[in-house]
Amino acid sequence: MNGIQIPGISNPEAIIPITGEKKSYKLVLDFNDGAISIIEARYLDSKLHREIQDLSDNDVTILGTEISDGAYDENLDIHCDKCNKFYRPYCRLHPLFKIPDRVLKRDESSNLSFSQQTLPILFRIEESKLPNAGLGVIAEVFIPVGMVFGPYKGRRCQKKTDFYKDGYAWLIKSGDKRFYIDGSDAERSNWLRYINSPRFEDEQNMLAFQTNGKIFYRVIKPIRINQELLVWYGSSYGNEFVESENGNKYKKPAKNPFICVGAQR
Ligand SMILES: [Zn+2]
Repeated sequence: MNGIQIPGISNPEAIIPITGEKKSYKLVLDFNDGAISIIEARYLDSKLHREIQDLSDNDVTILGTEISDGAYDENLDIHCDKCNKFYRPYCRLHPLFKIPDRVLKRDESSNLSFSQQTLPILFRIEESKLPNAGLGVIAEVFIPVGMVFGPYKGRRCQKKTDFYKDGYAWLIKSGDKRFYIDGSDAERSNWLRYINSPRFEDEQNMLAFQTNGKIFYRVIKPIRINQELLVWYGSSYGNEFVESENGNKYKKPAKNPFICVGAQR
């Protein structure tokens, strides 16, 4: 039976049903810290919060369950860098919110490459602010901590070839499997291929991570209007490596799956 039994009352009428539909919480952009947050609806302040979506009591009940290291499942759990713990499905204090690509199918009437067509309306592609970096992705609006983009699209290859020199390939290691995602062809990749790497660590505002054999990027520092998106890899992530950017090796984020809240869940 679904419901909460009130102790001492045997009358079935007294069972309070749990419908999972009650919307008591909000997923918001919190202007206090420029991050995605979960708050109780009664604390919503239109000056401080911008609503993203309603969360039911049930949604919130299942959030924030801490998982011990041994029980970690890369398909279900997230490691929160700030709390340094695993959660299923994610850390309630530091939730993530996935922004889908703008289109999933090519518009043949457009002159833009498919990769450029996938660019969410939040951004524009133009000459990078970094020297000799080619095109880059620039924020058109304020982008809060906790937004997630991806997965990185490209041709799946088993062998390393010349694409590797272009800086568009990711090496993915998932269990025993090992393969490359090659985004060098703009017709077979998506807009993430235009995001550059920073010159030094402080410039980094996004973190790349792997989950379920795919690469995603998430925002780790608020990105202000007209700032460029710059993706790097966490410094505290184990000893495995990804290969990117001219074949250099960088530390692979070994434990950072994300949860997709919203329509795609
Ligand atoms: Zn956390």
